[in-house]
Amino acid sequence: MSCDTTFPFSIEAMKKAVQANKYQIWYLPIVASNTTRPCPSIIGHDEGDLPDLGSPPWYCFKDYPQIEVCARCYGTEVRVAQAEELFTPITRDLIPGRIRQCFLAPSQNPTSTSANPMDYENTTAYRGQYLRNAISYCSSTANKDFTPALRVASKIASLPPPCGSELRTFKSSSKRKWFGHQASNPRDPNDATIIMCEECHSFAVKNTPLEQFLSADLTKLAYSSSPDGHRCATWSKTCKFRLRAACETRDFKAYAQFHHRREETYDRLLRSMGELEPLRDLMDQHAAKREGRMPPGQSVQLDMEQYDAKSLPGLNLVMWEMASYERLSAETARREELQQEFLNEWKSIDNVA
Ligand SMILES: [Zn+2]
Ligand SMILES: [Zn+2]
Repeated sequence: MSCDTTFPFSIEAMKKAVQANKYQIWYLPIVASNTTRPCPSIIGHDEGDLPDLGSPPWYCFKDYPQIEVCARCYGTEVRVAQAEELFTPITRDLIPGRIRQCFLAPSQNPTSTSANPMDYENTTAYRGQYLRNAISYCSSTANKDFTPALRVASKIASLPPPCGSELRTFKSSSKRKWFGHQASNPRDPNDATIIMCEECHSFAVKNTPLEQFLSADLTKLAYSSSPDGHRCATWSKTCKFRLRAACETRDFKAYAQFHHRREETYDRLLRSMGELEPLRDLMDQHAAKREGRMPPGQSVQLDMEQYDAKSLPGLNLVMWEMASYERLSAETARREELQQEFLNEWKSIDNVA
């Protein structure tokens, strides 16, 4: 049981409900926040998954159908602001593979009034905060004139779709487009294949001296090289700023070198994760054995089919299966430390927390 005035919006909703003498302005958002899934924000939902999620309908701006809003944000933010007249439920056919991100997503800094996308954790949060501020401002005016909010919506509607950042990849069925530059020799340290989303391309490349060099349509390459879903190559703010600086100074070589360092660190991190996984599996089995959770007669053993592909030179899995618990745990700890180092290195390159 929790107090129903503890939601971020509920005090505001209560005030508005008292002002308007309408109990629903407070009550319906509370119901929505208790009965709808949290906002999927930048990760969004694949439209093909929506029927299984049993989610109530999403909404979009009547005038800007590309601005889509999840049931939670509609049920809370829009209702509290009494801005329902601007929205309509999305009734078009679902397109499996198309990713539905919420354009009213909450940001980590809910009091920010910045109109600069780079001041937010990602550009979906920027859109959400910018629209929330506009709707809330209009709602607080005496005659509830939402014209300024519609101007903000018009601006947001004119932007390319939000980058998925590190949190979301896109398959070909998403119909997302990708732009950039394809290196003739991807191993050349001074050249690199960069496949970026429309939004990052617009931020870092458009109207710079390198626009032509970095504007090849690489949509086909993006999906053929990452059939499970392409992640934007310049998702972090560091990448975007570095690429823009490189474009402005006509120095793509500088960005290519940074790109290779970043990729090498990421590959190293992935490799170390793959190496650690079987050791952790063995540690879990040792724990199960000690605590009597392992069926009698069963021994500590790896499912080699699962690990063969990941086993790397230097890691003799059979040896670790037979090793004493003490040796195994010392090796696991050593590799965990190493992995943390790689993770810190990777994070510092992208300058993320
Ligand atoms: Zn939302
Ligand atoms: Zn991007």
